[in-house]
Amino acid sequence: MPKPVIFSIDDDPSVLNSIERDLRTHYGQEYRILPINEGKAALDYLKKLEQRNETVALFLVDQRMPEMSGTEFLLEAIKAYPQAKRVLLTAYADTQAAIDSINEVGLDYYLMKPWHPPEERLYPILDELLDDWKAHVRLPYEGIRVAGTLWSLSSHEVKDFLTRHQIPYQWLDIEKDPNSRKLVESVTTETKLPVIFFPDGTNLIEPDLKVLADKVGLQTRAALPFYDLVVIGSGPAGLAASVYAGSEGLKCLVIEKSAPGGQAGSSPKIENYLGFPTGISGDDLTRRAVSQAKRFGVEILSAQEAVQIAVREAYRIVKLSDGSEISCHAVLMATGASFHTLKMPGAQALTGAGIYYGAAYTEAMNYRDKHVFVVGGANSAAQGALYLSRFASKVTVLVRGREPTASKYLVDAMNENGKIEILLDTDLLEVKGTNSLEQIVIKNTKRDETQTFDASAMFVFIGVQPQSRIVSDLVLCSGKGYIFTGLDLLVDKKPPQGWTLERDPFLLETSVPGIFAAGDVRYGTNHRVASAVGEGAIAYALIKEYLKTL
Ligand SMILES: Cc1cc2nc3c(=O)[nH]c(=O)nc-3n(C[C@H](O)[C@H](O)[C@H](O)COP(=O)(O)OP(=O)(O)OC[C@H]3O[C@@H](n4cnc5c(N)ncnc54)[C@H](O)[C@@H]3O)c2cc1C
Repeated sequence: MPKPVIFSIDDDPSVLNSIERDLRTHYGQEYRILPINEGKAALDYLKKLEQRNETVALFLVDQRMPEMSGTEFLLEAIKAYPQAKRVLLTAYADTQAAIDSINEVGLDYYLMKPWHPPEERLYPILDELLDDWKAHVRLPYEGIRVAGTLWSLSSHEVKDFLTRHQIPYQWLDIEKDPNSRKLVESVTTETKLPVIFFPDGTNLIEPDLKVLADKVGLQTRAALPFYDLVVIGSGPAGLAASVYAGSEGLKCLVIEKSAPGGQAGSSPKIENYLGFPTGISGDDLTRRAVSQAKRFGVEILSAQEAVQIAVREAYRIVKLSDGSEISCHAVLMATGASFHTLKMPGAQALTGAGIYYGAAYTEAMNYRDKHVFVVGGANSAAQGALYLSRFASKVTVLVRGREPTASKYLVDAMNENGKIEILLDTDLLEVKGTNSLEQIVIKNTKRDETQTFDASAMFVFIGVQPQSRIVSDLVLCSGKGYIFTGLDLLVDKKPPQGWTLERDPFLLETSVPGIFAAGDVRYGTNHRVASAVGEGAIAYALIKEYLKTL
């Protein structure tokens, strides 16, 4: 395997030499450093790399070049290498161009010249970007291979599971590639998909996610019979609480039915989380949080669903879907929310076969140069549309209202994106397709006009509902299922019926002592990563108080 390439492009020979030297010193072992002094020549060279199936990890490009600006170069280059990280080298006077480039080319960073000393101003930034690149890139290597069809729900679920766990794999589409079909037929005559091939020569056919989790070495069973705190859900709220609990020495277990990260983990780019001016992808944030929690001794179970919580005196018992039980002193419900699904006829059968909920991150690459649709006008839909536009030829966003409700910066970015078309006052009426999505029927409610479009994929982001079912008989919830906590439980300034303690419930405590709730599942949430993280941290502080009372 040739080393992945780091491209550095600058028309000033002295700058080019100096950046080449710094890059070679730090990255030369792992990457091939390619210095080029002109944008057009670099684009020609990129074509050669593409033909040789070589990978580019990073473009480090001067913004101010005579023939072609850095941004113009990146616009072209990322067509061939959409996964490569993009960094502009700018002078102080070019900052505005760099900021514009954040939206235009999805810039990952802009570095000010001079960057010395590189140990402080160059390597830490590039290290992070390259780590992130490594975590997601699909290299042509002999790792896990997933063979299936684009239209099989279980293939989509397996891909989504691996992607969300940041486990690299190669996707083999047996409809497109006869060799992949032969490979599948060599191990099974059944029509079950996907078939997952492992480097050790074994394979799994349409496996249960827990079996897959075990096989790829994820923890699926608790190591201890008893914990101080069990957190259910590993989105931002659950992970934040677990980091604080672990850092203060509590025995803490996190139970996750799917993969860490929750909704935030499916966000291609979170741009309003404090401290990340060029945004951070949900899985990058998750990877950092998971390693932080693990460093503090927190156990995180994957592919394990909590199905019930019971109260036995001072103990709280969490029952898992495999029948096992875990006891603890306190439970944090950080189960977040899940997307509403389409209720129209046929939609369920086409889920995973062209209709996807969230999941833009997992499937976008499969719709390269295709026309895809996004349903919804909020932040998640806008982010999905922007991410899909990196691959698709056109993205049509169907918005029911008079305008998208997404934040201004996202609406602006969509409006400025030549591939994105927004249809306002538009209802989705019907989905059609036999084995996969083929057409959608929409209606412009203002003009009372109906239109049918050919559609191979539709990504649906139409609002969320709290995932509180497992405690809906145990703790007090709102009519929509959000869990009441703290002050919201008080009636005439008194605790709710059945509350047994002298004190009032703590701020994030539910109507059952020792069971807490934080994040999107909690009544009063504002559906933001920062709020979920904040609530997770506060919940931990209150749980600590609760533990003192035992
Ligand atoms: C695509 C998208 C983009 C977004 N972008 C932004 C953004 O840019 N900025 C922003 O501030 N917010 C954004 N949000 C909102 C933000 O992600 C959420 O507010 C945040 O993730 C809520 O965190 P949480 O921990 O409360 O719940 P979640 O993130 O929903 O996590 C809950 C976790 O609990 C697990 N779980 C549920 N039930 C069980 C069970 N019974 N057993 C075990 N595990 C269970 C789920 O699988 C999930 O992993 C976005 C949301 C989406 C969907």
